[in-house]
Amino acid sequence: MIIRSSSSSSSPSSSALNIVVGDTKEAFADRVKSIFKTKKKSTTKSEKFDDIVQLNFPGAITNQELVQKSVSLLTKKGYDGENTLLATSLCCDELARKLEDDFNGIYGKNFNLGGLAGFPFAGNTGFGAMAAHIPDDGYCLVVYGPHVGIAADGTVGKVERSGIDLIDTCCGSAVAASNYVDSITNGKRDISMQIQTFTDFQQNAVQELILPHGKRLADADIDGKRMIELPYALYDSQNMLLSEIVKSGSTGVKRGIALLGGIQINTGPDTPDYFHPLRFDYINFNGDTIDDLLPALTGVTDDDDDPLDLFER
Ligand SMILES: [Zn+2]
Repeated sequence: MIIRSSSSSSSPSSSALNIVVGDTKEAFADRVKSIFKTKKKSTTKSEKFDDIVQLNFPGAITNQELVQKSVSLLTKKGYDGENTLLATSLCCDELARKLEDDFNGIYGKNFNLGGLAGFPFAGNTGFGAMAAHIPDDGYCLVVYGPHVGIAADGTVGKVERSGIDLIDTCCGSAVAASNYVDSITNGKRDISMQIQTFTDFQQNAVQELILPHGKRLADADIDGKRMIELPYALYDSQNMLLSEIVKSGSTGVKRGIALLGGIQINTGPDTPDYFHPLRFDYINFNGDTIDDLLPALTGVTDDDDDPLDLFER
């Protein structure tokens, strides 16, 4: 459930929680907590399952920790619920909406740049349209990356879904692309030239884009870690593409844009979702990265940079 403000304003972010500089730490923590209250998804960390997540994806934090820390850091830059447009590039899978919903609770509805497996299929045109929708003299946060499931028994690449008995693959698009690359690496099939087929254009593109990572995935296979390596390989492709798109479109952004990239980790209904942050850059309107916020987000920092210091006023 997303808690919306009672504001009747018709501004694009009127549904956001309006996090502002000067909030007390307690008030902010309460607002974030209220976003995460949902009957369909637990927010309570299980120590046993957390160990499984950390074993496979060291450095992953829960969505709640991610939202709380990243929003705190962005508030320091001037971001708030009224002057910020959220854009995402995440998979079509409904499980990927959870992360969007969690950030939507702060910033309001997002502009969607993504498609299958999380690739930024909206491209330069989508980014240009998105940038034009950033509030005047305002900011943009782009959250992007592939996703991967972890089942309750620790199986990576599968997840329990509410209302469905079958514990199925997640991300389905990525696993299909991985199987395609595997069959080419093994010489069982030729490279498909079906990228021009409109009815499955995105999946064919995902398969082409993962192809350069064939050896990397095959090497991970030897240790039984193909499903762990797959999202990182996808992230590298997506990060490269999104960087290109941002570079060519950066003159359209208003005051600044933050890029928060990483691996979205979907889990079953009884455990919270996680995110492994791999990039958190603050970029100015010239396209220059002027601040690396990742160390402060991931906790690899000194006490002076505690993101929650902001709220101790
Ligand atoms: Zn997916």
